[in-house]
Amino acid sequence: MGAQVLDGKACGAEVEAEVKAKASALNARGITPHLAVVIVGDDPASHVYVGAKERACARVGVKSTRIDLPADSDFSKVVDVVEKLNSDSTVHGILVQSPLPKGMDELAITDLIDPAKDVDGFHPVNLGRLVQGRADGLLPCTPAGVIRLLEWGGVETSGKSAVVIGRSRIVGSPVSLLLGRKGVDATVTISHSRTSEIADVCRAADIVIAAVGRPEMVQADWVKPGAAVVDVGVNRVDDESRERGYRLAGDVHPDVADVAGHLSPVPGGVGPMTIAMLMLNTVTAAESNS
Ligand code: NAP
Repeated sequence: MGAQVLDGKACGAEVEAEVKAKASALNARGITPHLAVVIVGDDPASHVYVGAKERACARVGVKSTRIDLPADSDFSKVVDVVEKLNSDSTVHGILVQSPLPKGMDELAITDLIDPAKDVDGFHPVNLGRLVQGRADGLLPCTPAGVIRLLEWGGVETSGKSAVVIGRSRIVGSPVSLLLGRKGVDATVTISHSRTSEIADVCRAADIVIAAVGRPEMVQADWVKPGAAVVDVGVNRVDDESRERGYRLAGDVHPDVADVAGHLSPVPGGVGPMTIAMLMLNTVTAAESNS
């Protein structure tokens, strides 16, 4: 493996140290930063993610409250819980864990969250601020974590060409906006399932962000030698040799490490950054609203 590792655990630990200092400063003013996580149903992966978020809260000095609702909850029940959290002045951040049970309108719930407490950064007000290039919004955690990881790895972005594979609301679109922002200054191409000759598109890039959800799709011959590659993908691939019956794979083939200049691993790359940026958003919300 030749590529320098974009180590999300190490970078995330630095972010968490910053967050811990900010939380202590808030404590000194009598304020306890507080994240409320709402989880609806029994999706096992969601429970794993929420557990990781709770452990992060404990590490950095953020209070966490978890509200578990059964999978067959009425939509109005979820609305009621979010509205109560909106009006609870001791709660600074609200996160409704995705996915919600089938048939429940996730965007309608996102719209309900007070933008000042929207620590996922998915509310239209926060996404709108991102489009406007403003610094006063809460940024979506995974995209912000990708940018922070590139900075941490010393990857030059200004004037460089970046290709983002994927255009989702949660990752691809906001990370594209962040890469093209003033101060980051990359020239960004967004690719998706209708992009033709995607390997050629990627090969022209100095920076590739893979956010697709297709195991090991990005091959070594898609990558320009020396390019920085950030692998956002988290995919379960059947593997009978493992006790749990699967392994985690990214969207980038491991052979890319022989070609790229920088590469983020899966696990241990973007995942820990997402959680660290959630902690940062929570203390930022607490600072702004107390
Ligand atoms: P998503 O909503 O399913 O979006 C996937 C995107 O990939 C879509 O824009 C889709 O294009 C595009 N795509 C699908 N097949 C493609 C192909 N063959 N060629 C090019 N583009 C293709 O997924 P997401 O929520 O953005 O998540 C992407 C991955 O990141 C998943 O593996 C997810 O688990 C992972 N993830 C990780 C974290 C983390 O913290 N590490 C956080 C969030 C997500 P169309 O728009 O044309 O359909």
